[in-house]
Amino acid sequence: MARWLGQRERDRAEKMVDKLLSWLGSNPREQVAIEQEFDVRLGPTEASAGRAVQVRGRVDRLERDAKGRLVVVDLKTGAGAPSAEDAAAHPQLAAYQVAVEEGGFGPGEVSGGAEIVAVGTSHAAAAVRVQPPLGDSEDPAWAEGLVRDAAAAMAASTFRAVVNDSCPYCAVNTSCPLSGKGRQVTR
Ligand code: SF4
Repeated sequence: MARWLGQRERDRAEKMVDKLLSWLGSNPREQVAIEQEFDVRLGPTEASAGRAVQVRGRVDRLERDAKGRLVVVDLKTGAGAPSAEDAAAHPQLAAYQVAVEEGGFGPGEVSGGAEIVAVGTSHAAAAVRVQPPLGDSEDPAWAEGLVRDAAAAMAASTFRAVVNDSCPYCAVNTSCPLSGKGRQVTR
């Protein structure tokens, strides 16, 4: 790597660390775990055509708020961050909240919401995007419905790529057919 490029990456990394430290310093919640794995099973329902759904993953940070609820924090280092409106319905955050409520981090835990903390944007401070607790929603089951719908879509014989606001910072952008670089995968 060219030296100037290496220095630029180093400067960017240092800025991200500064923003993370600043955010941590003002975060009133208690740290419970980092890089915490979870594995929950959503039982079969009529709405999911009798299909059970297994949700596995790992969260960047798990924290406890003043009300004793668990809050999942997802740290992002990409240049973009979803809008506040998109974060409220963000599928990844929704899946984390479902994992909390389904006992993925211990029995009887209640979700206090989930957050994206984006430290790689051009803003001077970390961009924090909040998804309110499921229990505060008029329909707390919305997140589980989203997870079940996603599982059904993944299990289908075809998978349709749809341009959306996450495309610019999607991890598989370069292999997606919509980018013009990826191609349909057939067997
Ligand atoms: S780039 Fe492709 S895979 Fe990624 S979010 Fe957009 S449509 Fe989905």
